[in-house]
Amino acid sequence: MSNASKEPEIALVRAFARLKLEPRKLQAGHVWLVGAGPGDPGLLTIEALSALDQADALVHDALVSPEIVAVAEQAEKFYVGKRGGRLSIPQGEINALLVRLARENRKVVRLKGGHPYVFGRGGEETLALAQNGIPHRVLPGVTSAFGGLTSAGIPATMRGVNGAIILATGFAAVSDDRPDWTALARTGQPIVIYMGLTHMQATVAELLAGGLPETTPAALVENATLPQERTVVATLGTLVEAAQREAVVSPALIVVGGIVAMRDRLRGGA
Ligand code: SAH
Repeated sequence: MSNASKEPEIALVRAFARLKLEPRKLQAGHVWLVGAGPGDPGLLTIEALSALDQADALVHDALVSPEIVAVAEQAEKFYVGKRGGRLSIPQGEINALLVRLARENRKVVRLKGGHPYVFGRGGEETLALAQNGIPHRVLPGVTSAFGGLTSAGIPATMRGVNGAIILATGFAAVSDDRPDWTALARTGQPIVIYMGLTHMQATVAELLAGGLPETTPAALVENATLPQERTVVATLGTLVEAAQREAVVSPALIVVGGIVAMRDRLRGGA
């Protein structure tokens, strides 16, 4: 590598030194639940990077980029995501693994896509650790709604457009968690739907039934913040067809509401 291309790295090391941050120590027998952000390694927090560097056991799933997993070079890796279309490992087994690793006196990082406490089942894992008396910490990450929308050029809020933004799951396993889509539609506020592809048709039908016009701007943001990021813009009325035509795959966010229409204007278009 030439000296010129090394310069930003050296500048970064110097900037970091000026911050005078003393990263917290990950102790043996402790578990940290760490948010990795939506994919782009640049969106890791400094504390997440430090946690990966200290871990000697890393438990991760499919949403985390391989480059980020590779930072934990000293750690034994435990992959607990889906394999070749098979169902994921049951949550109870993941909880038990975290407890076991902590009891083996490992320095455990449980790495999750986005933010551990936003549709990440981080709460269940923290609860299991708390119930078993395992010392733990949760390190927030950039959730895909905020990282991903920004990357796609869509503002989360914009004066004159929206005074609230709704984050919802399109795939609630427990019926108590299932959003009341017609009620959400009636707020008129933009909705960002995580895990929305599988049940998109039903969700869209309920949003329309709740009174959102077919002309409501809508978008799908696939692989947000990653090199293969793709945004498909449609309307609520054409969203399902657009997703099929463009063969949109997971991970993707569905965004419904006027903020989507800001995309062209912020980019200097229409
Ligand atoms: N804890 C995560 C969400 C986990 S649920 C977070 O805070 O972001 C998994 C869902 O997140 C996916 O189905 C998808 O809707 C969304 N998601 C995660 N990463 C994404 C990405 N890079 N691009 C688009 N959507 C993403």
